[in-house]
Amino acid sequence: MAAPGLRPGLGRLFEMPAALGRVRRAYSTSQAFAEVLRLPKKQLTKLVFPLQELERHLVPDSKHEFHLKIFDPSLEDIARAESIFTATAQNRIEYLSSAERLDHAPALPRPEVCFIGRSNVGKSSLIKALFSLAPDVEVRVSKKPGHTKKMNFFKVGKYFTLVDMPGYGYRAPEDFVDMVETYLKERKNLMRTFLLVDSVVGIQKTDNIAVEMCEEFALPYVMVLTKIDKSSKGHLLKQVLQIQKFVDTKTQGCFPQLFPVSAVTYSGIHLLRCFIADITGNLKTHGFQFS
Ligand code: GDP
Repeated sequence: MAAPGLRPGLGRLFEMPAALGRVRRAYSTSQAFAEVLRLPKKQLTKLVFPLQELERHLVPDSKHEFHLKIFDPSLEDIARAESIFTATAQNRIEYLSSAERLDHAPALPRPEVCFIGRSNVGKSSLIKALFSLAPDVEVRVSKKPGHTKKMNFFKVGKYFTLVDMPGYGYRAPEDFVDMVETYLKERKNLMRTFLLVDSVVGIQKTDNIAVEMCEEFALPYVMVLTKIDKSSKGHLLKQVLQIQKFVDTKTQGCFPQLFPVSAVTYSGIHLLRCFIADITGNLKTHGFQFS
């Protein structure tokens, strides 16, 4: 039972000791996540549910503007996802190969998710943060002008493949379109595209190219807001509200709930791992799927 008078989401955090007991028995939570679960409530919310933490600062009338409860996993679900992202002898997480074109891409049976975003949005940093429980994974960065940018494929155990797409630049967005279009349009096992937007500056003209592409191909995609540690709370809230409005009014295929993250503080990383585990069908056995 949630403590009386608390919103259900926050009340859930008061159940932590019991939840933690269950988590430890059932899923042998990683040590890192066990430490997260020991954090004081406010810090835990900020780290694991950053949108929920931001919502506290909205005036009551506009609270409905964040779609917080569409993906609202329990701490046990998040712990399960952590184990999927933890490299072990049985759960190999590794870089597989790179490709410049779809016909060079490895033929992989598992569900796939891909990450796209303009150069400097924080894509490599985010992927490194997602793979922090697999420290041997090398996230390759190819930023030198003139160097061919490639799609990089990473295997996450028997669960799914994560694809790091080339960043699209300010000067040559058409290169990105050529390289990525076929992949997005034709990759059969692509389950979800994660479109990264810098939370400091919001949606830029070049981001619209990726949005339009996802919309045109009717892809299910998700907006991830990077670098949330960089702004003041006021500025971040303003940006998040603007982006939320954009998603609500200008998109069809975008998942309505935003995923704010920081690769520096790790805020939002656990929730994003859980969402990826869910949409690739790997939390199914738990009896739910949100999306
Ligand atoms: P990419 O070009 O999209 O792969 O971007 P990078 O991951 O290389 O990040 C671009 C710059 O933003 C680098 O200087 C990173 O250190 C910085 N950066 C990336 N993510 C974050 C973040 O979450 N917080 C902060 N403060 N800086 C970040």
